Amino acid sequence: MPSMSDRVSTFTDSVIRRMTRISNAYDAINLSQGFPDFDPPQEMLDALQKAAHAGPHQYSVTFGAKNFRDALARKLSKTMGRQIDPETELCVTCGSTEAMMAAMLTICNPGDKVLVFSPFYENYGADAILSGAEPIYIPLVPPAYDFDLQLIEDGFRQGAKALILCNPSNPSGKVFTREELTAIGALAKRYDAFVVTDEVYEHMVYAPHVHTAIASLPGMFDRVITCNSLSKTYSATGWRLGYLCGPARVIDGARKVHDFLTVGAAAPLQEAAVAGLTLPESYYDDLRELYTKKRDFFCAGLDRIGLRHNVPQGTYFVMLDIQAFLDLPQFAGYTDLEFCEWMIRHIGVAAVPGSSFFREPVNHLIRLHFARQQSTLEEALRRLAKLAQLLPAQRAAE
Ligand code: GLN
Repeated sequence: MPSMSDRVSTFTDSVIRRMTRISNAYDAINLSQGFPDFDPPQEMLDALQKAAHAGPHQYSVTFGAKNFRDALARKLSKTMGRQIDPETELCVTCGSTEAMMAAMLTICNPGDKVLVFSPFYENYGADAILSGAEPIYIPLVPPAYDFDLQLIEDGFRQGAKALILCNPSNPSGKVFTREELTAIGALAKRYDAFVVTDEVYEHMVYAPHVHTAIASLPGMFDRVITCNSLSKTYSATGWRLGYLCGPARVIDGARKVHDFLTVGAAAPLQEAAVAGLTLPESYYDDLRELYTKKRDFFCAGLDRIGLRHNVPQGTYFVMLDIQAFLDLPQFAGYTDLEFCEWMIRHIGVAAVPGSSFFREPVNHLIRLHFARQQSTLEEALRRLAKLAQLLPAQRAAE
């Protein structure tokens, strides 16, 4: 048999997506792959119905339908604090997954170094491999997920071409402060590097934390490639609508990459999504309030049943500390992946093993998400209470 490329043999399939498949096979409550179990806003559903009859059903302009880009530019101009030009500074993609890949393929040559925070959303590893870039990992150290700025400077000194940022950060829930972003930006300027930023959780930020787009900081727009999507903000992960926003020179390159990767995002969905992009500001306030309630409810539930966890500043992810379980004789020698598989089968709740996010040998954290209806979260907590009962009484009551 002919051999396949080295590329595909250097990474595994996505553990996040694999956990969803296992969860489905056992009919578990899926708190692994992060997506909501509720629908997009009614305005988008109505517009989708209309688009089904009125079209468009053929290709849109490859880099995004004009009305979709115009609506995006209006929303983004507020976030970025500058007028975004829909003709030159935007490229619409099939989800932010394609946006991130297109960004990497646009700026990296094989052998270029990129800085990646660890833990990181697993796609960034594959993005680096597929674009030929070599990651240098910067630890975000739990439980606070702090980082050492000196390590970033060291990485840039080694010639790193870009830093990949996820803000708010998956899976840690960290929201980078304006001061942290300013310091990172100053280094990117000093060493003349790009920042590629994934901001898909921009509206899931919990007070007192606030989201700052690094591209909005003074003098940063020209070196930041912002990747984002409609998946999380409009509960529409299956629509696969994402985009890149950045300086015209880079977007021009990314549009070429995008054109040959996918030609374009689905035209009728872009048409329908304009209804989401033009929703009033109150929509985002309500979304934040909804997720704040879910976070508070889920974290309080975990506290009540005695499971240790972090409290995310943003995103809809919680990291659960399973060390106390791994110390029990029945889980001796278990990896976090084996623990997650056991949990799906015996507890009926699916999580993602932390090791799929960390470069460091971390085996004691698993990721759960709370983008679920109230009744689903209640049932998940009931099931997780059975898990907590495995712990010695004293520990569970701590
Ligand atoms: N970002 C989501 C997660 O981390 C899922 C995204 C995906 O699977 N494409 O779970």
